[in-house]
Amino acid sequence: MVIYRDEYRLYNFGPSHPFSPVRLEMLTSLLQALGVWREPLVPGEATREDVLSVHSERLVKRVEAASRGEGVPDLEHYGLGTGDTPVFPGMDRAARILVGGTLEGARRILAGEKRVLQLGGGLHHAQYDRSSGFCVYNDLSVAIRHLVRSGLRVAYLDIDVHHGDGVQWIHYEEKEVLTISLHESGRYLFPGTGHVHEIGRGEGVGRKLNLPLEPFTEDESYLEVFEALVPWALGAFRPDVLVVQAGADAHFLDPLADLLLTTRAYERLFRLVLEYAEAYAGGRILLTLGGGYSLDATVRVWALLYLVFHGLPLPERLPEGWLREWEARLGQPLTPTLHDPEAPYPEIPRRQEIEKRNRLTLERLTELVRPHLVH
Ligand SMILES: [Zn+2]
Repeated sequence: MVIYRDEYRLYNFGPSHPFSPVRLEMLTSLLQALGVWREPLVPGEATREDVLSVHSERLVKRVEAASRGEGVPDLEHYGLGTGDTPVFPGMDRAARILVGGTLEGARRILAGEKRVLQLGGGLHHAQYDRSSGFCVYNDLSVAIRHLVRSGLRVAYLDIDVHHGDGVQWIHYEEKEVLTISLHESGRYLFPGTGHVHEIGRGEGVGRKLNLPLEPFTEDESYLEVFEALVPWALGAFRPDVLVVQAGADAHFLDPLADLLLTTRAYERLFRLVLEYAEAYAGGRILLTLGGGYSLDATVRVWALLYLVFHGLPLPERLPEGWLREWEARLGQPLTPTLHDPEAPYPEIPRRQEIEKRNRLTLERLTELVRPHLVH
């Protein structure tokens, strides 16, 4: 089942902001041009109460006031009105529409649906008392909280290139929520957290896993540590459902980060998460989008996600008419194939050192959480 609503595109920080609704417009038009688009389930908006299940009243009041165009003197204290997360008219409702989609996904899972793809959301930086990093409200945590309150154990997997900090901190002391985030190390990248020693607190200890990766990590090294860590953690935790934030910004073309994944790695990752859901979570999986700031790459990665999710064959080339239209609209050439070309960037001289460091990070993480995670 796919969840989508055209009004997701109301979540718009302006024409020069990287979190652009154009990504969704390109994606849905590409899927239509490929002839694979199926009518999605159109979700309702999340209510104020839904949002308050993970956010403070103080924060929500400020988002509402800013949304109406009222001056709010302490806005920046709440992470809003910044360069990253500026305010815009109607932002409260726009954010609640995205939350509503992910929450609808959770409800569908509870109603017996196995696989749900929410073509939006993934606003993983928003915290209890603070919007952050393009994320006003945390749709993932609202959905996870709803699942937990309904008695499910949730594993959250975050492959966005940035640390899934908001989700981690909101559920930091919860034993029913396992979080796993693979990201470019916080030493180099926003939000600066996601170190291996952040393993949870109280009952949540050993259930918050972070694998910070070296800049310029390539497909092979990423997949090596991913395939060692994720099935091991899921096998130990045994969730009822897997929630996946499928950000596309670990792609080598991404302008905001420095990992070097290609679409080949993404295809493999998407196939793996579906397999892991079958093996460890009763087949239940809820996927969302997330970051991804190269229009060229992001749209192809998420088209791959849609096709793999539905078990459809992968076309080699993108439709000519679609390419011509979007190249004209964007004024830039686009990759004409679904996958990246072979060897799309020059060799990385430090490759072996990077692989070795990523292995060491995985070892440190495994040592830290094993005593808590495995009983
Ligand atoms: Zn990101």
